[in-house]
Amino acid sequence: MRLSRYFLPILKETPKEAEIVSHRLMLRAGMIRQQSAGIYSWLPLGHRILRKIERIVEEEQARAGAIQLLMPTLQSADLWRESGRYDAYGKEMLRIQDRHERDMLYGPTNEEMITDIFRSYVRSYKDLPLNLYHIQWKFRDEVRPRFGVMRGREFLMKDAYSFDIDQEKAVESYNRMFVAYLRTYKRMGLTAIPMRAETGPIGGDLSHEFIVLAETGESAVFCHADYLTKDVPGEDLDFSGDLTPIVKDWTSHYAATEDVVDMAEFERSVPEDKRISARGIEVGQTFYFGTKYSEPMGAKVATSEGTEVPVHMGSYGVGVSRLLGAIIEANHDENGIIWPASIAPFHVGLINLKPGDDLSDAACEALYAKLEAAGIEVLYDDTDNRAGSKFATMDLIGLPYQVVAGPRGLKDGVLEVKDRRTGEKELLSPEATFDKLK
Ligand code: ATP
Ligand code: MG
Ligand code: MG
Ligand code: MG
Repeated sequence: MRLSRYFLPILKETPKEAEIVSHRLMLRAGMIRQQSAGIYSWLPLGHRILRKIERIVEEEQARAGAIQLLMPTLQSADLWRESGRYDAYGKEMLRIQDRHERDMLYGPTNEEMITDIFRSYVRSYKDLPLNLYHIQWKFRDEVRPRFGVMRGREFLMKDAYSFDIDQEKAVESYNRMFVAYLRTYKRMGLTAIPMRAETGPIGGDLSHEFIVLAETGESAVFCHADYLTKDVPGEDLDFSGDLTPIVKDWTSHYAATEDVVDMAEFERSVPEDKRISARGIEVGQTFYFGTKYSEPMGAKVATSEGTEVPVHMGSYGVGVSRLLGAIIEANHDENGIIWPASIAPFHVGLINLKPGDDLSDAACEALYAKLEAAGIEVLYDDTDNRAGSKFATMDLIGLPYQVVAGPRGLKDGVLEVKDRRTGEKELLSPEATFDKLK
C-alpha cells in the first residue's frame, strides 16, 4: 500500500475526550471515528486490524470444531418473549418498532435466535455435539460508554453456542472452547487468565471470564501469579482428545473477579508472594447453562433410547472489537502502538526519505515490489512529508519493522532497518533487508 494513495487520517493533537492510552492512540492513529456515543466507524487502518483479529478467532474456532454462520443484528421481540428475557433484559436492550408496529430489537446476544435455529432442524442425539458461531455486531445501550471501543454501545462479538445431549458432553464442549480461548488470546500476544465469574443475564452455573491484566481494566481481579507464566497448548493439540487435564491445570489456582471473590479463600489458597490483586479487562466469557433456553423454547432431541430431552447448551463470547483496545493497553510506549506481528495491519513500514531522488526511489520501488510479491504487507511512505513526521507516524501506528531509505545510506548501499519493539537499528543491504523481513 502506498501511503500517498491510502486513507490514514493521523491526528496531531491528543483528543481531549480520550481518558485512556488505547483510546487516545486509536484516535490519533486514524483507526476509528466516533459517530455517536459508543458507536464508531472503523477507518481503514483500524478495520485491517479488526479483520486480523477476526481471522485468528475464526482459525481457533475451527480448530476446536465450531462452525461459522451469520445471524442478523435485528431480532424479533417474540423470540425473546419465549425465553422470558424480553422483559428481564432491561435498558441495555435497544428496542425498535418496524412500520407494522412489530417489536424488534438490536441483538445484545443470540441465545434465543440460535436456539430457534437448532430446534427447527435438529432432532437426534446423532447430530450432536454441535457448536455454531458467528462474528456479528451487537448493541447494548451501556449507561456509560467509554474508553473508545473497550466499552462501546455497538461492538463486534464472536459468540459460539454449543449443543449436547447431556451435562457430561456439554462440559466436554465447554472445555474445547475454554482451550480455544487460551490459544486465541495467546496468538494475539495476550495473557488472558480464566477467572471464576458471575453469569449475569446469560445465566447458568459454570462460567469463566477471560481477563487481561491492565491498570485501566474496569474490574478488580484476584489471582495466583503462576497464571502469568503458564504454558498454552500448541497447534498440535488434538481437540478430539480429553482436554480435562488442561482445563484442570488452568483452573487449579485461585482466580476470581470482584463480583465473586472470597478474600478469605484467596488469602488461604495463595501464598502472599504469589497474590496478584490487580485490575483487568474482560476479553471473553464462557458459560454452561444447561437447559435454560432449550426448556422454555422447546429445543429437544431424541436420546439413543428414543426419549426426548431438552438439549444442553453453553455460550462463548469473545469481545473482538474490545480486543483492539486491550492489545494496545498491553503493547505501547510513549511514541505509540507496538503491534504484535500476528495482528499488525502491515508487517513493514517503508520510508522513502527523499521522494524524487533517483537512488531513493529506485531502492524503495524495488524493495516494495519484492516484498509485495513475497506476500509481505508493506505500507510504503512515498509522500513528501518531513522526515520527522514520517518517523513519528510510523512509530505511532506501530508496525513491527521500519525500513528507512535515503540518499546518504544508499550511497553506501544500505538501508536502515528498525525493530519497533526493541528500537534496535541495523544498516543492511537491500538483499539482507529482504531476507530479514521475509
Ligand atoms: P462487561 O462486563 O464488560 O459489561 P459482559 O460481561 O456484559 O461485559 P458478555 O455478555 O460476557 O459481556 O459478552 C462477551 C464479551 O463481549 C465480553 O467478554 C466482552 O469482551 C465483550 N463486550 C461486552 N460488552 C461490551 C461492550 N459494551 N463493548 C465492547 N465489548 C463488549
Ligand atoms: Mg455488560
Ligand atoms: Mg462482565
Ligand atoms: Mg461477561
